[in-house]
Amino acid sequence: MNDALSNKQVKRVVGDRAEYLVFTAFEKYPELGAAFAIRGSKAYHYEPSAPNMDYSGISSELGLDKDNIIIPFQEHTANVAEYNSEVREYISTDGLVTRERGVVLGTKVADCISLLFYDPVRHAIGNIHSGWRGTLQKIALNGVAEMAKKFGTNPTDLICVMCPSIRQDHFEVDTDVYEQFKGIFPQIIDEITIPKNSKYYIDTVRCNSWMLEQVGMRPDRIIDCGLCTVCHSGLINSFRGNQDNEKHYRNLALIWLKS
Ligand SMILES: [Zn+2]
Repeated sequence: MNDALSNKQVKRVVGDRAEYLVFTAFEKYPELGAAFAIRGSKAYHYEPSAPNMDYSGISSELGLDKDNIIIPFQEHTANVAEYNSEVREYISTDGLVTRERGVVLGTKVADCISLLFYDPVRHAIGNIHSGWRGTLQKIALNGVAEMAKKFGTNPTDLICVMCPSIRQDHFEVDTDVYEQFKGIFPQIIDEITIPKNSKYYIDTVRCNSWMLEQVGMRPDRIIDCGLCTVCHSGLINSFRGNQDNEKHYRNLALIWLKS
């Protein structure tokens, strides 16, 4: 089947009630579930005043109880929390980690990167929202640190899948944002930047993989799905790529340990 969203790392699944991607790198772990719900699942209308959205479609497709999906109130912070059954709302939180089975960690994105972490040794997971602001604050490293602190995770054991996001070809920024990247990532600034017509095109995926390598993750366990949300905005929600009336939709990245 010729499917623009399927490649060596990703397979697109078209269900009756939702469309989503699954990741090759996670398939060999029976205890692990992960999916990335895309445009065919228009349940994720972003409305701060109405945070209780309808996840029934994707939940039924994946055989999940929608009440078990935990999504923090993302604000482009660097804050990562451990899931706690006593906590009802995760305010100003952009990543969650857990080793509780049956708890489904979610992040909503429409150009930002969802980083899905799995530690097959300690049996723990993380789901981190890393947009360009989160990338500059290195939230990915806070995710790894939280897993190390709470679960004893060793970074060399960790596997990270990088979900679809806006890629270098479309992430055009002005000098002010370029200068911020240069300040935080001086070692790789030339590698991650393509200057063109007094604009800059930044590779935020590489920023994240580079910082994860710096704390000891193995490069072959940092797996990029290779999909640009803007290039594929017909199938994947994209803030920059979609029309104004569709800018409010988000993709939903999910990861969980099966009960
Ligand atoms: Zn693109």
